[in-house]
Amino acid sequence: MGLRSTIATGAAGAARFGLQRVLRRRGGSIPGALAIALDPNILASLRPLFTTSVVVTGTNGKTTTTNLLADALAADGTPVITNRAGNNLEGGIAGAILEGRADAKRAARATGTGIVGCFECDELYTARVLPKLKPRYLVLLNLFRDQLDRYGEIDHTQDVIAGALAASPETTLVFNADDPLCAGVARRVENRCIAFGFTGPAGSEDPDKVSDSRFCAACNAPLAYDYVLYGQLGSYRCPKCGWERPALDIACTGVDTLPEGQRFRYTDRLDGHSFELEIGYHGLYMVYNALAALGTARLAGGDERRFQQVLDRYQPARGRMEKRCVKGRKLLVNLAKNPVGFDRIIQIVQETGARTCAFFINDKDADGHDISWIYDVDFERLAALRGLTVFAGGTRAEDLQVRLKYAGVPARIVRGGVDAIEQARGIDAQETLYIVANYTATLELTDELDRAAREEAPIGGDDSEGAGATGGAAPESAAGDGASADPAPQESSPTAAEIAWDTWSLVAPGEVAEPYAALADNPITICHLYPQELNLYGDTGNVAILAARCRWRGIPVRVTSLNRGEEADLSHTDIAVIGGGADRDQLAVQHELMRHRAEVDRYLNEQQGAMLAICGGYQLLGRHYFLGDEKIEGLGVIGIETRRADNPTDRLIGNVAVRSEIAGADILGFENHGGRTYLDADEKPLGTSVVAGTGNNGKDGFEGIVHHGLVGTYFHGPVLSKNPALADWLIAWALRQRGIAAPLTPLADAEEAGARRAFEKKLPHHT
Ligand code: GLN
Repeated sequence: MGLRSTIATGAAGAARFGLQRVLRRRGGSIPGALAIALDPNILASLRPLFTTSVVVTGTNGKTTTTNLLADALAADGTPVITNRAGNNLEGGIAGAILEGRADAKRAARATGTGIVGCFECDELYTARVLPKLKPRYLVLLNLFRDQLDRYGEIDHTQDVIAGALAASPETTLVFNADDPLCAGVARRVENRCIAFGFTGPAGSEDPDKVSDSRFCAACNAPLAYDYVLYGQLGSYRCPKCGWERPALDIACTGVDTLPEGQRFRYTDRLDGHSFELEIGYHGLYMVYNALAALGTARLAGGDERRFQQVLDRYQPARGRMEKRCVKGRKLLVNLAKNPVGFDRIIQIVQETGARTCAFFINDKDADGHDISWIYDVDFERLAALRGLTVFAGGTRAEDLQVRLKYAGVPARIVRGGVDAIEQARGIDAQETLYIVANYTATLELTDELDRAAREEAPIGGDDSEGAGATGGAAPESAAGDGASADPAPQESSPTAAEIAWDTWSLVAPGEVAEPYAALADNPITICHLYPQELNLYGDTGNVAILAARCRWRGIPVRVTSLNRGEEADLSHTDIAVIGGGADRDQLAVQHELMRHRAEVDRYLNEQQGAMLAICGGYQLLGRHYFLGDEKIEGLGVIGIETRRADNPTDRLIGNVAVRSEIAGADILGFENHGGRTYLDADEKPLGTSVVAGTGNNGKDGFEGIVHHGLVGTYFHGPVLSKNPALADWLIAWALRQRGIAAPLTPLADAEEAGARRAFEKKLPHHT
């Protein structure tokens, strides 16, 4: 180790000492970050410490997989250095190595073995970590939409990981072959690759409606699936070029659900070895994590006879499927950061017939400021449940409440976990409160619950910081007062959706209000164009919002869609909706859309139907979208032109507000686009002056377009969730086209108003 590294290491040690002894805090990533500041190459200097090292990356399951893998590798006494606490940036990894180094060396001398490194790493930080650490294996678990305001589009994440592998050619990639986005990375790299996945469908899972990308990594054509496990995971092949899921080397060849977990068969196709294992948790994603961890442990020389013991002893990290009991209420706390993570837990809530659940969403830096993905969470599954109480919390509690409203689920706002427990007091003490929270919300919540548990703990109880390590829970015996417990819900108790209808609707279910009697046999028709392909950042929510706002007023409404391969006939459409998409997704639908050019032109410019076009969909209505040397031909039905910045990562991302005449109030939302759009002189912008954010291009102060009945905009959120006036403008336009000019009866919109107020506080200089 050179002088620079020695100084850096010493400084890190001092910082760690300072943080631990003086501030009584665990070191986290600060000592590592300090060491990197002094010696940017510290990871490379530390590399010789390891006989083998593994880096784990991917959107979901990094911490669980890393911990399982570290346990499996340590099971035969090998010293393993790992960043167990989940500090997964370069500083966190360097810090973990510096902290664990002395003990590991001692243990290695005693056992006569080498030292193994096992680190979880943020997807984007693989670019920094791999070239320096040059691990033996990189495990790539999955790639879902997650913090897209930080990561840009998923293609960018794939590029970064492929680049990191190119800079570490000796690293073997162990990847989830069921995920076409991971297989797309494997396809591009020269590194040795090992594929893991499921050999067949696993019955109980309900394939989610949202998938991140089901396009071919080779030719961008839509993939065909034999079966989908969840999200975009499954067995796929491309009907156009023949690219298909790579052959599996490590496979799950069967899985059974048990009352308290799952049994699965592990088969190593490389050596023909096969055995059964049990894991004490539900959800297929847990099997994927175990498969990846144990598969990699076997490759790295771990002893499979100890794997069952590793799974039996597995203690989830803080806030990951963690069972607690606080103030007499049983809790199951789980971290989820994206739609797929939330959907997995909602499914468990649905299957177990739970009666209370709480969702917490924060939008701090580490979470991502964009929360529009909550519209991709299938909260609608909760609407049919009877006797359900739902709480919404976190820094974006109000947005969550609006989201749940449009899912047909009334929710109460809570200030935190303890408040949720208090508000759940009337509910049977035996009922578990299921808590799902995103990243910083989980950290805050687990801290808060630790504190609450400590306050109840007997005097002299453990008050050290270690109390929060993996338990932090009060004894399970703590029973509720039980006295005020209400009885279990009857078959006759209303569903969440029935309560929602009573709360928000102006009419009885199925009732047609008087001004709309003529529409009874010919309802307002909302046509969703390419819902599968163009739905970034929850844009699909716009359709649900339009439909609900019609229904609550007794306006007959139906929702249809236009999908690939279908002929477009918009003559019976009253409101067309098209969402946003990554450049690649836009390219995939552009050929389709071009076939319908004349029909869309007729709809917008002659029929003058109402239309909402978001971001990628908005760009496609213009003449061209220039992406450097490439060009996506647009429909040219409105006078706009779009250009991407020279550097594709130069994106316009953040919260936005614009002054607008048509909505009667500022339009609020979130933008994330690489394209800059310019309006022809005779076109009218939707937003006439940008109050916060950038809008069309960051130069002329305009946002979006209004062109007859079309609202084109860069706003996600989805846009209508915080701008109900814009939704009503589209509905009123559609009704006028049908000859109904009566003004719309206002809806209460208290939740939307709350979400607007909370959001406005986030905007700089907003008045
Ligand atoms: N791919 C387009 C862009 O980056 C649109 C993105 C979007 O729809 N959010 O400009």
